[in-house]
Amino acid sequence: MKKLALHWKILIGMLLGLIFGFIMLQVGGRAFTEDWIKPIGSIFVKLLKLIAIPLILASLIKGISDLKDISKFKNIGIRTIGIYIVTTVIAISIGLALVNIMQPGDGVSEETIAKLTETYSENSSVKAKIAEASKQKDSGPLQFLEDMVPDNAFLALSDNRLMLQVIFFAIFLGISLLLIGEKRAAPLKSFFDSLNDVVLKMVDLIMLTAPIAVFALLANVVVSSDDPDILFALLKYAGVVVLGLVLMIVIYCVFVATFTKKNPFWFLKEISPAQLLAFSTSSSAATLPVTMERVEEHIGVDKEVSSFVLPVGATINMDGTSLYQAVAAVFIFQALGLDLTFSDQITIVLTALLASIGSAAVPGAGMVMLVIVLESVGLPPELLPIGLALIFAVDRPLDMCRTVVNVTGDATVSMVVAKSVGKLGEPKVKNWDDNYEEVK
Ligand code: ASP
Repeated sequence: MKKLALHWKILIGMLLGLIFGFIMLQVGGRAFTEDWIKPIGSIFVKLLKLIAIPLILASLIKGISDLKDISKFKNIGIRTIGIYIVTTVIAISIGLALVNIMQPGDGVSEETIAKLTETYSENSSVKAKIAEASKQKDSGPLQFLEDMVPDNAFLALSDNRLMLQVIFFAIFLGISLLLIGEKRAAPLKSFFDSLNDVVLKMVDLIMLTAPIAVFALLANVVVSSDDPDILFALLKYAGVVVLGLVLMIVIYCVFVATFTKKNPFWFLKEISPAQLLAFSTSSSAATLPVTMERVEEHIGVDKEVSSFVLPVGATINMDGTSLYQAVAAVFIFQALGLDLTFSDQITIVLTALLASIGSAAVPGAGMVMLVIVLESVGLPPELLPIGLALIFAVDRPLDMCRTVVNVTGDATVSMVVAKSVGKLGEPKVKNWDDNYEEVK
């Protein structure tokens, strides 16, 4: 029998997880699921995060030291940042156009607003998000640059939230490695080459458990979800976000077809395990190792490009998040009966662009930065908890969907950049058991 492709196995796992979660809800099995099923999903996410930093370090250092000449790196860097900004602005514009045309906030009744406010405005996680946002907001305009530079490499390597610092350190080390000449660089280079292979093999091994892990992750999402009545009241808003996200995937397909001349359906099929994991974990950082593996081995993007484009993308390029922030901000204004002028909408484009760059690649981060977008267009502070309360109930499912777009966007840009510098080759698929015969 032909082996079932990984994405099908993951999809079946997800579906069974959803069904299991619904059954558990009916029979009062929430505690059982949290005690016995949830840990399986959490362990899987931890394993992925465990290898993210070693992978970024090894792969970026290998990627840069393979370059032979630094001007190539500058070329890749400028194109990457440029295309990231373009895709994000497209995403925000789609979000704004849809929310203005479909006006999801106008249909929300006073009753629903009162109910949502009562249920969520005092919620500790809503308050925590507002508090976190105010910390971010108090920093100066160049704070992000300052934050990018570590003063202790080992401290940076020991904290997953400091991914940009790790990227900075790896680029610095990689460039210096290039500058000392091939002969003297050889030992360190082969160390990182080998580390890189090992970590990619770890991804293969972890992915063997993915179908079971997504079962656990989704079962847990279902048992911890909110009251279905509340979810239903927000259906139109959620629908606008999801429609925008789907359109964004179409845009990526157009990018792939136009700029790389590859079949977009093939692209979606090859990247699908990463998308499904993004959906199940709501974290582009946790998905990064799998995104890298798919893009390099299954799509054929050269490591010189993917090793820079993908980790940077996971931290700063969040098209799904920025689209969501644009829709959510306007929705909240509409629902509360407040006006937004055209120049306010332009402000949303700029702040959502910066906010998505500043959002961490972890579940729920987009909502923290949404607070900053809302404040930039003048939502009074006393209405902030109410604003967030309005969208809180559907935030988790929307987070799952926007993370898929975030990851797909990074993969698309890596292909486009690779093609533009002649580094898009043929896929070289490695299975988890390649080399196994040698060690048996
Ligand atoms: N969960 C998203 C990500 O990791 C960020 C967000 O939109 O909250 O990509």
